[in-house]
Amino acid sequence: MAEYDVIIIGSGPGGYVCAIRCAQLGLKTACVEGRETLGGTCLNVGCIPSKALLHASHQLHEAEHNFAKMGLKGKSPSVDWKQMLAYKTEVIEGNTKGIEFLFKKNKIDWLKGWGSIPEAGKVKVGDETHTAKNIIIASGSEASSLPGVEVDEKVVVTSTGALELGKVPKKMVVIGAGVIGLELGSVYSRLGAEVTVIEYLDAITPGMDGEVQKAFQRILKKQGLKFIMGAAVQKTEALKTKAKVSYKLRKDDSEHEIDADVVLVATGRRPYTEGLGLDALGIETSKGGQIKVGKDWQTSVNGIYAIGDCIDGPMLAHKAEDEGMAAAEQVAGKHGHVNYGVIPGVIYTHPEVANVGETEETLKEAGRAYKVGKFMFMGNGRAKANFAADGFVKILADKETDRILGAHIIGPSAGDLIHEICVAMEFGAAAEDLALTCHAHPTYSEAVREAALACGDGPIHS
Ligand SMILES: Cc1cc2nc3c(=O)[nH]c(=O)nc-3n(C[C@H](O)[C@H](O)[C@H](O)COP(=O)(O)OP(=O)(O)OC[C@H]3O[C@@H](n4cnc5c(N)ncnc54)[C@H](O)[C@@H]3O)c2cc1C
Repeated sequence: MAEYDVIIIGSGPGGYVCAIRCAQLGLKTACVEGRETLGGTCLNVGCIPSKALLHASHQLHEAEHNFAKMGLKGKSPSVDWKQMLAYKTEVIEGNTKGIEFLFKKNKIDWLKGWGSIPEAGKVKVGDETHTAKNIIIASGSEASSLPGVEVDEKVVVTSTGALELGKVPKKMVVIGAGVIGLELGSVYSRLGAEVTVIEYLDAITPGMDGEVQKAFQRILKKQGLKFIMGAAVQKTEALKTKAKVSYKLRKDDSEHEIDADVVLVATGRRPYTEGLGLDALGIETSKGGQIKVGKDWQTSVNGIYAIGDCIDGPMLAHKAEDEGMAAAEQVAGKHGHVNYGVIPGVIYTHPEVANVGETEETLKEAGRAYKVGKFMFMGNGRAKANFAADGFVKILADKETDRILGAHIIGPSAGDLIHEICVAMEFGAAAEDLALTCHAHPTYSEAVREAALACGDGPIHS
């Protein structure tokens, strides 16, 4: 048994970042993790492995579709799936070991095992009970399914199973056209699978700017993904090596079936708080299972905080990280802060899709007067040279003050380009501030500047 200033439960991006910041602020810190490795969902079965497979499959796409155009001739590479999975595992190991190194460097104790909170100020791991002045819950989330859809992680899989398939399926059905479904659907489509996405709503990627939703779906269709929209999945039947998916079209209630070698259930995630003992402690949760916290990330019990996927808000690694740093600062007597209005979202397909702030839909709903500055990548020299001219940058600015309210990018490196706009928004910048900033040529960033110019007197290259 040891005494700590802070014990953090969970070592995902929320937990490990929080632990490092606590240690940097001089607090005696431990982090409890039940997995074999540190890093949580993100590093083990989420962000990092999915990006490794997206990267590898994108290289194949480039070789098959663009190499010959640039005078690079020869046999296209074939897929060695085992090796691709080995590459993915190596990437995971490199990252999780990196966190282990950072824990050692910052003198953070890793308490190995599943933790529970028998009472405020105490954390039990295995047979040992440790005391802590503060406890921070960062227990993350797990995949959720639908009634009638039974996951076996072989034929009917969540994202975790989809990152470990025995072979590339010939036919894959993805239930849910959200970020995870479209990213992993793209991976298998590029590797040769016939991918059909079934979505309950009439538009993909719910909550995203409507114009981007339409453009994105058009591009994905061009890449070979099929979509069945407005369809409610009724059930899946797992046969030995295949599955049957039954769905009903919402427009006419007609019933249909589709076969697949693999069905990926990508219908969202829910908070994971099993075994922590929240009820006995009297920690309040919402209907969806999220732990309720105040502005300082403290739960309804003094000295117990919660951050990341297990509380309200977008389930994103960087949101969890920011909360981790802010909660650490609160615990250390400082003033942690997260600007929830400026949290970017990125989809790592090709092209990438990125957004921050308001959409046209949310602005209309709020009755706010705004203007739109849009620039197509077709007018960007670098994008044309790199076969990456699909898509656009769209900036939404206040009609009166020109202050940037939101931005939506579909195009090359959108996930990097969005940050220029995030910084501008943090500083309360106007579109004109971006438009007056010199941007190097030839870069994709010039498209951001052109969109900012489009909020004023107009872009140059369109
Ligand atoms: C396929 C996929 C791709 C994704 N891609 C992205 C992306 O590109 N970008 C992005 O921003 N987000 C992405 N996400 C979401 C991202 O992974 C999560 O938002 C992020 O991991 C949340 O961090 P967290 O620290 O809150 O929880 P988690 O990362 O879920 O970590 C929680 C950890 O707590 C541990 N734990 C739980 N309970 C206990 C206990 N009682 N005792 C001990 N340990 C416990 C768990 O084992 C786990 O390791 C992706 C998710 C998936 C599934």
